[in-house]
Amino acid sequence: LERTFIAIKPDGVQRGLISEIINRFERKGYKLVAIKLVIPTKEFAEKHYDDLRGRPFFNGLCDFLSSGPVVAMVWEGQGVIKYGRKLIGATSPHNSEPGTIRGDLAISVGRNIIHGSDGPETAKAEISLWFKPDDLI
Ligand code: ATP
Ligand code: MG
Repeated sequence: LERTFIAIKPDGVQRGLISEIINRFERKGYKLVAIKLVIPTKEFAEKHYDDLRGRPFFNGLCDFLSSGPVVAMVWEGQGVIKYGRKLIGATSPHNSEPGTIRGDLAISVGRNIIHGSDGPETAKAEISLWFKPDDLI
C-alpha cells in the first residue's frame, strides 16, 4: 500500500494546528502508520531538503525547519502521495485554493505549515530518513 511522509513544520505546531491537520488526513480515509515529535538539527533539515541546495531560500528554510518541534508522520492509503499534496495545496499560500490546508491556514510561502513528499521516490527516501523500519505500524 502506498505511503507518504508528512511533516507539520514548526509554525504549524506553534500555531496549534496539529489536530486540525491530522483530522483532515484521517477524515479523508488515510491511515496513520507512524508519528513522532522531533526538533531536527540543521544538518538533518539540510538532508531533508537536499534537492533545494543552492536555492536562495535554502539556508533560511533549513534554519526554520530546525527552529522547533516538528510532527513527523507517515500516512498510508490509495494515492496518498499525490492526493496528500492536494490536501496540502500549492507551495505558496497565495496560490493554494481555499479548502486546502495551506489555502485555509497559511499566508506565507516561508511559513506554509506542512510538508508532503512530492513523489514515490522522495516518499521512500524521506520515510527512511525520518523513521526506522520498526517505527512503522
Ligand atoms: P514542501 O517540500 O515543504 O512540502 P513544496 O514541495 O510545496 O513544499 P518545495 O519546492 O519542495 O515546495 O519547497 C520546499 C519549501 O521551501 C516550501 O514548502 C517553502 O516553505 C520553501 N520555499 C519554496 N519556494 C520558496 C521561495 N520562493 N521563497 C521562500 N521559501 C520557499
Ligand atoms: Mg517539496
